[in-house]
Amino acid sequence: MSKLRFRVVEAAFKKKPVDVAVPTERPSEYFAKYVFNKEKMFRYLPSKVYAQLIDVIDNGATLDRSIADEVAAGMKKWAIEMGATHYTHWFHPLTEGTAEKHDAFVEHDGKGGMMEEFTGKLLVQQEPDASSFPNGGIRNTFEARGYSAWDPSSPAFIVDDTLCIPTIFIAYTGESLDYKAPLLKALRAVDKAAVEVCHYFNPDVKKVYAYLGWEQEYFLVDEGLYAARPDLLMTGRTLTGHDSAKNQQLEDHYFGAIPPRVAAFMKDLEMEALKLGIPVKTRHNEVAPNQFELAPIFEECNLAVDHNMLIMSLMKNIARRHGFRVLLHEKPFKGVNGSGKHNNWSLGTDTGLLLHAPGKTPEENLRFITFVVNTLMAVYRHNGLLKASISSATNAHRLGANEAPPAIISSFLGKQLSQVLEHIETSDKEELVTLSGKQELKPDIPQIPELLIDNTDRNRTSPFAFTGNRFEFRAVGSEANCASAMIALNTALAEQLTDFKQEVDALIGQGEPKLTAILDVVRRYIKTCKPIHFDGNGYSEEWKAEAARRGLDCETSVPLIFDNYLKPESIRMFESVGVMNRKELEARNEVKWEMYTKKIQIEARVLGDLAMNHIIPVATRYQTDLINNVYKLKKLFPADKAERLSAKNLELIEEIANRTAFIKEHVDALTEARKVANRMESARLKAIAYHDTIVPAMEEIRYHIDKLEMTVDNQMWTLPKYRELLFIR
Ligand code: ADP
Ligand code: MG
Repeated sequence: MSKLRFRVVEAAFKKKPVDVAVPTERPSEYFAKYVFNKEKMFRYLPSKVYAQLIDVIDNGATLDRSIADEVAAGMKKWAIEMGATHYTHWFHPLTEGTAEKHDAFVEHDGKGGMMEEFTGKLLVQQEPDASSFPNGGIRNTFEARGYSAWDPSSPAFIVDDTLCIPTIFIAYTGESLDYKAPLLKALRAVDKAAVEVCHYFNPDVKKVYAYLGWEQEYFLVDEGLYAARPDLLMTGRTLTGHDSAKNQQLEDHYFGAIPPRVAAFMKDLEMEALKLGIPVKTRHNEVAPNQFELAPIFEECNLAVDHNMLIMSLMKNIARRHGFRVLLHEKPFKGVNGSGKHNNWSLGTDTGLLLHAPGKTPEENLRFITFVVNTLMAVYRHNGLLKASISSATNAHRLGANEAPPAIISSFLGKQLSQVLEHIETSDKEELVTLSGKQELKPDIPQIPELLIDNTDRNRTSPFAFTGNRFEFRAVGSEANCASAMIALNTALAEQLTDFKQEVDALIGQGEPKLTAILDVVRRYIKTCKPIHFDGNGYSEEWKAEAARRGLDCETSVPLIFDNYLKPESIRMFESVGVMNRKELEARNEVKWEMYTKKIQIEARVLGDLAMNHIIPVATRYQTDLINNVYKLKKLFPADKAERLSAKNLELIEEIANRTAFIKEHVDALTEARKVANRMESARLKAIAYHDTIVPAMEEIRYHIDKLEMTVDNQMWTLPKYRELLFIR
């Protein structure tokens, strides 16, 4: 066996679980130990300041800059007591990760010494030298300055020796350069629009929250094996690799016993996550070998997004303590399941969930139906955009690949809810009742049995499924920032609820009683958004044809899917709700196309290197062995016998020659195709060229490499194979 491969396989095989020191306290005691949460705010801030800050956090009141100094002082005191020496503004630029630049608390004290300092000014706003973050041209045309500004709604936390302050990141001219700024705007918009609709049913509702509960899937690979795979190291996925004979066909990994080395990692990760206030709850083996899942209890959407970003970086760090690497790529291995990140999304008021069927009074049921139907309308109107919000070069490998939702957005409702909607659509009965002396029409709304709705049959093939008290947006990619999907979804709903209210108010204005007006509009919506509702098998070929007939967006080319962001109805939506303007959307699309191109470009380069430096040399060496063997047979045996005995090897020699020639030619062609694409000015056209020419060419090359893997002597093969990457743990 190739020396390096042999060494890392052996080392990986011998590894034992790392001992994890379990704290003597219970999780409930160390939960949020490293978070400046309300409890610490109460302890470290003057009571007036505390009350003002809580008003900002809970009610979205504007932050009075005069309290910033006192908040900063309290935060600093706590952080220093906790051993922190540095602070940073922590933000989500349009890359895949988070960004931070640490500064020490120290300042000159004027007497030749140093002192710890942290002022309100430093807490509230900073100007990171951020000229190298993606900005889609916004920061070139204007002053190249960006600001990070404190987001008080997500609490500061300590990682290692650094106090991290969640911030938004915006250009000098006000445009968002990150994920958080538009997310906060979208959440505010959906709050405002949903509160108004809630007032039809309950005038006391003050706030509507959007909730998010993500389920993070990931792979673990031993770090020695990982290091021996340049493709994993550079791109996060294997660009070559033949299926192992056994993969997931026995269905023995899903929910199976967690391997001890992995269990130690999970325990460690969960403890650290809990200390950072991330309410992790669920862990299990996923479908593919070496694939796992982690899920917390759902939280307010902005906080949940921050927690997901935080946990993704935490996972990477903690995995290393255990000799693993975490793969968050959506498709690290061909032939086994990829990883997604289900986004469980719902709305709730201060008094309870809005997507939960209460089944007590007709009014409550109507409220439930109203929010469900408006959600369906929003998803229907913007189904292409929602798909764009979850599309990326990496997620493209997963969507539509018979294991994940197809590249078509539709919604599963289940039997119960479908029947209820059907009933409303077809009935126009309205019962006349007397309410507080006034004659009113009482709408005929079926009682929804609470239990049954909770038991909605599961349909794993739907990208946007109703699951009892929430919708589960399943098409989100495992390494994505959830904010992208959450911005699109919440903005679409905010627009939709605003339109709904206008229509209902117009009917009320014409003298219709409130509840019948609502029911009229809801009934019309049920008819309109029917095409989005699909309870069947989303993986089937028939559905693709049917979806196209229904007019749903069926585009599969990611660069073209991004066009959805710039459609007139999308721009109108983002602008009317105040989340992003045309310029921001255009800039973001530039970033998306560039990111797409760069990802594929890196993959193509790595594949070229692998082909030329690993595959062809090894295959050729093996071929030489075979050729020597043929010559020696000739020396040993009479000609006709030698010919017979070397027939098989001659075949192999030829096969290797053909395949290596194919690979070499196509790697050269790939380089040429890249040069052509790279010369294109437009980021969009360049991305399209990468999609149309580079991606399929890489697949063809891979095909022959994978065949060679099965032909060439196992001892010579340099790259760890799937059976090693997927089964050593
Ligand atoms: P499954 O894999 O069956 O979908 P999990 O238990 O793995 O279920 O994950 C369900 C996720 O949904 C959890 O993060 C949970 O907190 C979240 N969740 C449950 N109810 C809601 C809700 N009303 N709104 C948002 N998220 C929710
Ligand atoms: Mg789920």
